Amino acid sequence: MHIVVVGLGLIGASFTAAIQKAGFTGQLTAVVRSAEAGKEAVARSLVHAYSTDLSSAVTDADVVMLAVPMLAMRAQLNAMADTLPDSAIVTDVGSVKGYFVKEALAVLSHPARIVPAHPIAGRERSGMDAADVDLFQQRRVILTPLPESSSTAVKTVEGLWTQVGAVVETLAVDHHDRVLAHTSHVPHVLAFALVDALAKQQEAEEIFRYAAGGFRDFSRVAASDPVMWSDICRTNPKAILESLDLFSQHLQHIRSAIETGDGDTLESTFERARVARNQYNDVQS
Ligand code: NAP
Repeated sequence: MHIVVVGLGLIGASFTAAIQKAGFTGQLTAVVRSAEAGKEAVARSLVHAYSTDLSSAVTDADVVMLAVPMLAMRAQLNAMADTLPDSAIVTDVGSVKGYFVKEALAVLSHPARIVPAHPIAGRERSGMDAADVDLFQQRRVILTPLPESSSTAVKTVEGLWTQVGAVVETLAVDHHDRVLAHTSHVPHVLAFALVDALAKQQEAEEIFRYAAGGFRDFSRVAASDPVMWSDICRTNPKAILESLDLFSQHLQHIRSAIETGDGDTLESTFERARVARNQYNDVQS
C-alpha cells in the first residue's frame, strides 16, 4: 500500500511514525512545502520519500491523507484532482468535517473514495518536531463517511487508525461539527479570549505571575496554533456561534447571580457542573 500524507506537521508526522511502529510494510510518502522539511522527514525515518509536488506524488497512491490546516485543504484537493487514480482513497484529519466534505465533493469525481476522519488527539505544539509516535494510542478517531463512501474505503481508513492504537467511531458530518464545536472549538475560543483579555491589562505581568493552577489548566490550550484555530472558526462558524450563544446566555445567568448575591443559584449551578465533570471523567477513563 502506498500512503501519501500531505502536510507533515504534528498530526501527519505522528501518523507516519505510529503506522511504522505498528509494522506497516508499504510505502509512505510525504508531500511538504520545502525540500528541507522533506529531507529531514526522510532522515528521521518518518517517511520513505517526499515530494514538493502534490500532483505528481499521488499518481500511484492507494491512500491520500490530507493533514494541513482547514483552509489549506481546497488547494491540495485542486492540485491532485487531475492526477489522482480512480482507485485512490482520499481521507483527511481536519477538525471540521462539513467544510472538508463540501470541498472534496466539489473537486473529486469519485465520492465513493472519500472517507473524512478526525483524530481526537492533539496538543498545543505544532509541526514535525512535535510528532509523537504514541499520540493516537487509546484516543478516539471519528469517521464521518458519506452516504456514497464505499464500505471497502471506510474499512481501509478504519484499519489504518486501529493499527495506530486509536478507537474508531462514526458520526454524521453535521453531528460531528456541532458536538466538536461544544467540546473543542468553543473551549479553545474561550481560552484564547481570556488570555488575550488579561494580556491587554496594564497589570498583565503580575496577573500571569500569580496565576493559580486553575488558570494554568484553563489557559493551556491558548498556546495552540493561531492559524489552525482561526481556520477552524472560519470553517465551522454556524455551530461555533450556536455554542457561544448558549454559553453567553448561561454566563449572563451566573453573572446576575453574582451581582445579586444569589448563593442558591451559584451553588446549584456549580454543583450540577461538578457532577457532570466527574461523570465525564468516568466516561474518559
Ligand atoms: P501543524 O503541526 O501545524 O502541521 C500542518 C502541516 O500543514 C505542516 O506540515 C505545514 O507545512 C502544512 N501546511 C500549513 N499550511 C499549509 C498550506 N497553506 N499549504 C500546504 N501545506 C500547509 O498542524 P496539525 O496540528 O498537524 O494539524 C493538521 C490538521 O489536523 C488541521 O486540519 C487540524 O485542524 C487537524 N487536527 C489538529 C489537531 C491538533 O490538536 N493539533 C487535532 C486533530 C486534528 P509547513 O511545515 O511547511 O508549515
